Amino acid sequence: MSLLFIGSSRRTLTPLWTCSSCRRRISKLATAGTARPTYKLPETPARTRFAPSPTGYLHLGSLRTALFSYLLAKSTNGQFLLRIEDTDQPRTVADAETRIKEDLKWAGLHWDEGPDVGGPYGPYKQSERLDIYRDHATKLLDTGRAYRCFCPREKRNLGEAGLHASAGFKSHDCNRVSKDTSDGRAAHGDPFVVRLKLPEYTKRYRDLVFGNVASSKVSPMDADPVLMKSDNWPTYHLACVVDDHLMGITHVVRGSEWIPSVPTHHHLYDAFGWQPPTFGHVGLLTDLNGQKLSKRNFDLDISAFRNMGVLPDALSNFVALLGWSHTQKKDTMDLQELAKNFSTKFTKGDTKVSFDKLWFLQRQHAQRIITSAKTPDDVQSIIQPVLAALKQNCSSWVIPESGTPADQQDRLLQILKSDAPNYKNAGDFVERHKYTFDGPSAEDLISIKSPITVLGHLCHLSNLPEEVKPEVVNSSIVKVVQQVSAILSQEDPSLSTDEKGKRLRAHFSNVVQNTVSQNLREINVSDNEDLFVALKKSWAALLHKYIRWALVADTPGPDSASLITALGPMETLRRFDQAEKVALGQLGSNEMADVEK
Ligand code: GLU
Repeated sequence: MSLLFIGSSRRTLTPLWTCSSCRRRISKLATAGTARPTYKLPETPARTRFAPSPTGYLHLGSLRTALFSYLLAKSTNGQFLLRIEDTDQPRTVADAETRIKEDLKWAGLHWDEGPDVGGPYGPYKQSERLDIYRDHATKLLDTGRAYRCFCPREKRNLGEAGLHASAGFKSHDCNRVSKDTSDGRAAHGDPFVVRLKLPEYTKRYRDLVFGNVASSKVSPMDADPVLMKSDNWPTYHLACVVDDHLMGITHVVRGSEWIPSVPTHHHLYDAFGWQPPTFGHVGLLTDLNGQKLSKRNFDLDISAFRNMGVLPDALSNFVALLGWSHTQKKDTMDLQELAKNFSTKFTKGDTKVSFDKLWFLQRQHAQRIITSAKTPDDVQSIIQPVLAALKQNCSSWVIPESGTPADQQDRLLQILKSDAPNYKNAGDFVERHKYTFDGPSAEDLISIKSPITVLGHLCHLSNLPEEVKPEVVNSSIVKVVQQVSAILSQEDPSLSTDEKGKRLRAHFSNVVQNTVSQNLREINVSDNEDLFVALKKSWAALLHKYIRWALVADTPGPDSASLITALGPMETLRRFDQAEKVALGQLGSNEMADVEK
């Protein structure tokens, strides 16, 4: 057990026991610290690192630590490193390293040095640096700052990573073994661990989050921490300190569960004669009841959020706001904006997580990404999951007839733009626009309880005069469709869907108006000016409604011109063709009768 003190000056240091049973008190007591924070960023570039152990996947808490480290580096023009701390081999999960790396990349946290990208201080995986740790443990043995402990495992009590004290066992007896005897026993092959000799003095340091902290060894029974295990692998303490020093790390941001390790780390830095980095320990994440996040209350690994369709920018933004605050008017920020506005204004203590905020940020980011996208490349983080969701639904949108992949993405972007404020996630969007993507079936058209399902009904509802027969209305629809198709097919194929959409939108209303005028003239109502104007208005409205019904079964979504452009000529004609058949009752009089009811 060791003791930490938290406070703004030597006189106001608050005692803080750090045995595992009282760790929970850390954050509570830490909030009592009276340090006046400045929140200022370091003046020189910070070298930070994220050092996950591949004993599990990336969760919200670890993504947050990675993000804070990343932002601290980026906001000071420094470097962000990734180091894989895989010294706990028995607990290593086979695919954890790959998944962690994938999730970090997905979140946009690209590392400047680390596995896969290399760097001047590699290798960046601890299992590939074992010689380095052994050499450093030997150095400490040579300088007398560490000693071999030959106690049998059961006397080491809680195991090699645990405490060196048990009932009836005098602590540190091995410390008193002479160097010659110790070397002799080691040469003879006696198993041993290497322990750091914890000195008695107090260490003071400034924590980025908690302010001034002092730690000391306070009891003769305090355990001397193990640095090397009997299998000649380093413990976390040794490997972490050696690597942070050799890799030039200036700032360590990590979870407050690591506070109890700080005294050991500080004493290790002293033992080597090195300057320690600045530490910042961020509080725990809890649910709204203050319970530590668990699988049951959404401590899901990052892949689960990815599978829910959460956007990388939305998740990073959400996670950044868990225990950090800023002075901007709006909370919505992408990684670049977060880096620009970053400070060390971290919350002391635990942070309650409300997922409502995540979905709010998700909508904000989706809208920003979609509306600002010029080409599908700018919006791949949304297009890819939407295509995947479409594929899962066996949508006809993804079959080859829908055009080349580039053309398809171009058209998809238009659909996204038409409904950007309502984008929640890919699954929801595909469901919301199922008629846009797949088109309604004939049965869907018939079953829609809209007043404009078939032409006869339309004529009836619109109080059109007798002479305006369904066939006449239909003929004007056919004319509109022909003209629209002509416009589409005459378009320069090199134009983007966006430009084609703009042109069609410009013509669309005119096409409808002109067709209606022409039809009205054909049925000789043009001599009555008032009737002509009234009819033209209602007939045009009816045509517009019919077009929506034919294309998307009258559901909301993109305006008709955008829709037609996004669907392309082939699919548009197919839908009009189907609608015409339904409308003219060619699907059978029973269905018509149903609709007329
Ligand atoms: N490997 C430790 C972990 O898994 C890292 C602790 C630290 O950042 O020092 O969390």
